[in-house]
Amino acid sequence: MTREEFNKYVEFLNTDITFIKGVGEKRAKMLHKLGIRCVWDLLYYFPRDYEDRRKVHTIISAPIGEMCCIKATPNTRIVKKQIKRNVTLYYLYVEDDTGSIHVKWFGNDTYPVNISYGEEYIFYGKKVYGYGKTEFELEVMEKVQNAKYTMKIVPNYPLTKGLNQNLIRSLVSSCLTNVERFLDIFTEDIRDEFKLETTDFAIRQMHFPSDDTSFSKARKKLVFEELFILQLALSYLKGRRQNKKGILIHNIKCEKDFEKLLPFTLTESQSNAIGEILSDLSGDKPMNRLVQGDVGCGKTVVAAAAIYTVCKNGYQSALMAPTEILATQHFNTLKNIIGDNLNIALLTGSTKAREKRETLEKIKNGEIDLVIGTHAIIEDTVEFKSLALCVTDEQHRFGVNQRAKLSEKSDFAHVLVMSATPIPRTLALILYGDLDISVINAMPKGRQPIETYCVTEGLRQRAYNFVKKQLDEGRQGYIVCPLVEQSDKIDARSSVEIYENLKDNVFPSYRVGLLHGKMNAKEKDAVMLSFKNGDIDLLVSTTVIEVGVDVPNANIMVIENAERFGLSQLHQLRGRVGRGSVKSYCVLFTDSDNEITRQRMDIMTSTTDGFKISQKDLELRGSGEFFGTRQHGLPELKVANLFTDMEILKEAQKLCQSVLETDPTLSDKSHLMMKQRIAALFKKFENNDIFN
Ligand code: ADP
Ligand code: MG
Repeated sequence: MTREEFNKYVEFLNTDITFIKGVGEKRAKMLHKLGIRCVWDLLYYFPRDYEDRRKVHTIISAPIGEMCCIKATPNTRIVKKQIKRNVTLYYLYVEDDTGSIHVKWFGNDTYPVNISYGEEYIFYGKKVYGYGKTEFELEVMEKVQNAKYTMKIVPNYPLTKGLNQNLIRSLVSSCLTNVERFLDIFTEDIRDEFKLETTDFAIRQMHFPSDDTSFSKARKKLVFEELFILQLALSYLKGRRQNKKGILIHNIKCEKDFEKLLPFTLTESQSNAIGEILSDLSGDKPMNRLVQGDVGCGKTVVAAAAIYTVCKNGYQSALMAPTEILATQHFNTLKNIIGDNLNIALLTGSTKAREKRETLEKIKNGEIDLVIGTHAIIEDTVEFKSLALCVTDEQHRFGVNQRAKLSEKSDFAHVLVMSATPIPRTLALILYGDLDISVINAMPKGRQPIETYCVTEGLRQRAYNFVKKQLDEGRQGYIVCPLVEQSDKIDARSSVEIYENLKDNVFPSYRVGLLHGKMNAKEKDAVMLSFKNGDIDLLVSTTVIEVGVDVPNANIMVIENAERFGLSQLHQLRGRVGRGSVKSYCVLFTDSDNEITRQRMDIMTSTTDGFKISQKDLELRGSGEFFGTRQHGLPELKVANLFTDMEILKEAQKLCQSVLETDPTLSDKSHLMMKQRIAALFKKFENNDIFN
């Protein structure tokens, strides 16, 4: 292939979908909703399942009640029957050598078609008994010679409102015909070694498989490719940290001093984790450690111990949190514990320009020991004098390269990431290949399991009375508003309405507060502070409190429209209570009797174990969605399933290592396509919308 041909190929794949025949502004918008913007996106938009329409029967041999094709000839006109005002029933009498049958369908825009009498058609549908005779319920009717959607395996795509299967099928198939041959990221040698089909075969067969075997081969190739690119991208990032020396941090009885500053004694798990961290810090390689522990187990003090030790050694630390609310809370907590000994600064997106300038200056000249903030601290304008430790809290909320950017603020910085999301081994293998893990597997003493109830609308009054009872005993509570849309603005508006109703009509004699993502930082801080200080009894909130918020006196949470939240999210939300020694409760409101919802609610009411919940979440959702950015900071996987594709993952990892060994910078001509794919992946990694 010449350079020119290659460029043309890439250009075609990058073509905006509005240039495809049949896609106008309106359809383009709907396709955008599915993440489809260019031809490449469309071709990598794979079916969720398939319909096997290969079987062609005669009228007599067609089995009752089973979808199949029959090949027959119409021999009367189409008969129309008005059933309701806008429902029409159509009948067509057809015959073949074995007999005849009435084909029927309900009217819509697609049919009736102009029937050519005496010509052969394929009818896809099922034979049924009705009123003592057999009829054929039609789904698709096509002329035999230009059959597109019958007599083969047909894909079903995930849809959104306004788009139908046939539209996506035909867009995909027209794009497929426009590409002469898809290029491979692997050479023939590699394909032979790992027994992989060509990309060209794989993409075509994934959409329109000719049989099971071809489909499996196609899928294997695409899974391999996907996992390979992901690992290559992550290894590439990690590679930049290797062969570096860490800054030596001495323990000099910091650990003992630190413990004296705490109002409680550390749990054994916490002490172990701190021990492991301090031993990393005094080693000769930069630390790269994950602290993993369920919501509420006390990860913050573990980070604080590391920060304290580093700063006592005369170096700076940075702590990054995914939301302003959480960053501010950490700022206050850490000021309480170690603020007498260290200079701490807060830096978020809403820090005022003048104040920010001063803070930046102090960070640069070393006056500040610890900077706490949102992603604002990874901006280029933030320069450290002697940064030695980077901590990322709720790491799964950050894109992979945001985390990398923080540690690049210094060549030798130690890295500590914290997460409550349990990571399956397979995922850890990809994401944290070179990361050490400390697990905090016990809660502080005196915690009681949260009691969770799932109730319907009819019990609302009783639930509110129960909340009042808790508030009357001096406790505090949260009411979490339903997710209305993936839009802060609309969520905010609806939370205001809910808040006003609760304040005026349900809890008039209590102090009710409101928190949502559209409030400015000052307002949010004020509300959070009042709640923490006990000046607000009941906090009505959107999901802005989902991660990290810690008010131990709050012991009751009500979650509205619980069916709109995923399991992991419900678990995170519920983790806002049960943080002290009093008994805590969670009430999930839902009227949905959807099967998946019911299963989710069963899990929520029967366990508080984050690991179990996470496993279940994965089962119920399928891995694509689960491994999406909100859960783990990884791009959504389109074909691979990290649980079932373990073997392919290992193979892909093998190849990844050998490629990087021979060509660490991917400069070789044969690696050009790989490099391009990594670049494309990183573009999609960034996910800033979670910051509020
Ligand atoms: P998470 O692991 O969810 O980040 P936090 O660090 O916010 O949890 O801690 C949850 C609560 O538990 C905080 O109020 C914290 O002060 C408290 N806590 C942490 N460790 C202990 C301990 N060893 N004993 C008693 N309370 C603790
Ligand atoms: Mg936390």
